[in-house]
Amino acid sequence: MSSAARSSIILLLAALVTIALGGYVDAAVIAVVLTLNAIIGFTQERKAEVSVRALMRLASPRVRVIREGKEWEIESRRLVVGDVVLLESGVRVPADLRLTSTTALAVDESLFTGESVPVTKQTRPLDEALALVDRTNMAYTGTVVTSGRGRGYVVATGPRTELGAIAGKMRVEDKTATPLQQRMSRFARVISLAVAASAVVGFGLGSALGHPPMEMIMLAVALSVAAIPEGLPVVLTVTLAVGVGRMARRRAIIRRLPAVETLGSTTFIGSDKTGTLTENRMTVEEVWAGGQLFPVRGDPDRLEPVGDAAALSAEHCPLYLTLLAGVLTNEAEIYVTEHGIETRGDPTEAALLVAAARMGIEHEEARDIYAMFAEIPFEPERQYSASVRVRGDRYLVFVKGAPERVLGMCTSLMADEGARELSPGQVLDAARQMASRGLRVLAMAYADLPHPPHGPEEVREPEGQTFLGLVGMIDPPRAGVHDAIAGCQRAGIRVVMITGDHAVTAQAIGRQLGIAAPGAPVLTGAELATMDDDALRRRVKQVSLFARVAPEQKLRVVQVLRSHGEVVAVTGDGVNDAPALKAADIGIAMGKSGTDVAREAADMILADDNFVSIHAAVEEGRITFDNLRKATFFLVSTGAATVVTILAAMVLSWPIPFVPAQLLWLNLVTNGLQDVALAFEPGERGVLERPPRRRAEGIVSSLLWERTLVAGLVMAIGTLALFRWELDESGSLTRAQTVALTTMVVFQMFHVGNSRSEFLSVFAKSPFSNFFLFITTAAAFLVHLSALHLAPAQFVLRVEPLVHPGAWLRILAVAASILVAMEIHKLVRRGSLRPGEI
Ligand code: ATP
Repeated sequence: MSSAARSSIILLLAALVTIALGGYVDAAVIAVVLTLNAIIGFTQERKAEVSVRALMRLASPRVRVIREGKEWEIESRRLVVGDVVLLESGVRVPADLRLTSTTALAVDESLFTGESVPVTKQTRPLDEALALVDRTNMAYTGTVVTSGRGRGYVVATGPRTELGAIAGKMRVEDKTATPLQQRMSRFARVISLAVAASAVVGFGLGSALGHPPMEMIMLAVALSVAAIPEGLPVVLTVTLAVGVGRMARRRAIIRRLPAVETLGSTTFIGSDKTGTLTENRMTVEEVWAGGQLFPVRGDPDRLEPVGDAAALSAEHCPLYLTLLAGVLTNEAEIYVTEHGIETRGDPTEAALLVAAARMGIEHEEARDIYAMFAEIPFEPERQYSASVRVRGDRYLVFVKGAPERVLGMCTSLMADEGARELSPGQVLDAARQMASRGLRVLAMAYADLPHPPHGPEEVREPEGQTFLGLVGMIDPPRAGVHDAIAGCQRAGIRVVMITGDHAVTAQAIGRQLGIAAPGAPVLTGAELATMDDDALRRRVKQVSLFARVAPEQKLRVVQVLRSHGEVVAVTGDGVNDAPALKAADIGIAMGKSGTDVAREAADMILADDNFVSIHAAVEEGRITFDNLRKATFFLVSTGAATVVTILAAMVLSWPIPFVPAQLLWLNLVTNGLQDVALAFEPGERGVLERPPRRRAEGIVSSLLWERTLVAGLVMAIGTLALFRWELDESGSLTRAQTVALTTMVVFQMFHVGNSRSEFLSVFAKSPFSNFFLFITTAAAFLVHLSALHLAPAQFVLRVEPLVHPGAWLRILAVAASILVAMEIHKLVRRGSLRPGEI
């Protein structure tokens, strides 16, 4: 049962008991409050939900289409029948498509068939009568491209698709309670127990002291009403929604609400390199070919060639062929516009086109001369791409990929004088040297085929290749990432790089970014594959760089870390990263470069693909949790104060200082205005200077329980003292209750200031830094003041105006004592804490 439902039931019982005892006004007030609470709670939660949904829509799926002969990226929901859609691995098919071209296109159709083996697609016409699963020239909405490329035109969208027809039956909702909800519900259970206990204790004590049973029942009702933090569910939703909004402003879009607070306890971040830590803005710097290193000349921002292809081919054949191979095994496009060079597709491949153009090789011309025959597009797990080309009667296969991978396919090396014997050591040395300068290194090779291949399958693992050369490109670290990593480290979070790139490149970039010291060890995918879980568990503690890691190995790293008790955030962008993203506490996908599959598996999406946004999200996560804790502390400690006041009055055989309606007034109206405002507290200085919160730590820590007790006692004593004073002075219970109520209201006004920081003095924070809180505090006071003077409110709340300045002065003076008490508690307990442990 939700805490809101639980508190409503208790209140309902309270109302019934009150009616039974003839307290019609109080019962009516409780009923009105119940209704209001439900309405406000519902609208607040709806509002929060709507805004969170709107933010999530920022990460709505996008699709690449061809319109007016040019490639565009549009939102999937804007597709119309007839649009030509481009498919690649990781895309969730956005509409029903009739395929017009496919390159090793395989689609997972388990959504329809339950069969998880991907179906290979083709473009030939088929019999109309075929069943859906056999229509291999179609791609259906909701299915996922697992590998290859394709294009097709839209034949149906939205509800008219095959998926649309069955969507109603398939809606699955994730109903599992999130950690925060679980924690909150545990907390609500504790509170309910406290409510029950205080009612029973009150009743028992009172009866033992000889109070009439009727009075005791009234008292039990009052205690229940006082102890329930009615505002808590709303505060929870609003605080999380505010957190989501703040994160979105910092380019981190939350897909699952609890991620907001899990982020705050993250202890480990495993980040991809390309695009997240670096800019994914590749520029080819140098080419190693024929045993020599060549710088790539010319301005990378302009395509003016510094030479021509014929001269280059004659002078440095291996260099020419290396660049040519880069152009022919390439799916990217570059255009020259008035703003400079515009690229489409993989930046690595676009960089190869630009480099070739700078050296005089025009890519369209090259693609015309060497006509395309078959293609094996790049997939990260394969680490290479290949293309079969025809020129005259020659069939050539060109390969580009990770140097070790390509080298394994080669038997000779291209030199100026022609192919000669290959010395793999020499090539690997050259690759290592380039990588140690932080360059991303790709290798190129080619072979003449003795006869035309029957299809791409035949050249899947090309052999007998001639090694052509190595291309080294820089991909500068993103601005701000170095500082963000240092910031995470100061915040007690370990940052590691998990990359598909070469170990030496990883080392160089890791060093530049401050992830690892010079010469720090790197764990490669190959080593990782030989380790058992125990060995890996020991190793992950020491290593911050993981290179040539396959997606399923990333999953293993995540699992091993989680078994260490780490709270793991991990980034991923490929189709096969989805399991690792799901397994992590926080799966992070890329908004720009990631695949749909990765985005769907993620808890959070980085709108700008930038690591800096993860750092920002962690900060916001911590702030959100802090604010939740502050609001809860505020609510619970003021609740405790009223309970103690009532119990003490009874023990002292005094009249009860509050009627139930007044307690609701305190809990919901005056308190309710301020606790929601605590959701808007700006972060405290140093949120990122303390270690991550321990996972098991509750919303209210043991120290805050202790502080709750102190606050409860101080406020209760102050209220009781003024209540007694007024009772003795005036002899009027109504006047004394008015004073008690007003004292509590003013106590709350001061105490909300105390609650703004767990460990800083109230005076260290400007009252205007949370203007909303300032306004609501003032409003709470004005509303209360009006209630004292307006007849209907006077009737319902049983209050009267406080006209005597002396009464006000006494109230102010006594209420200020909560500031002193909390300051002392903060001071005394500060020394005994680990930094950040509050
Ligand atoms: P990260 O995993 O950090 O994003 P990455 O981009 O280097 O790094 P992958 O995309 O998995 O990782 O690529 C793995 C390797 O495959 C690269 O290091 C490179 O050697 C090779 N590679 C990358 N892009 C291409 C491409 N378009 N064509 C051929 N080979 C490529």
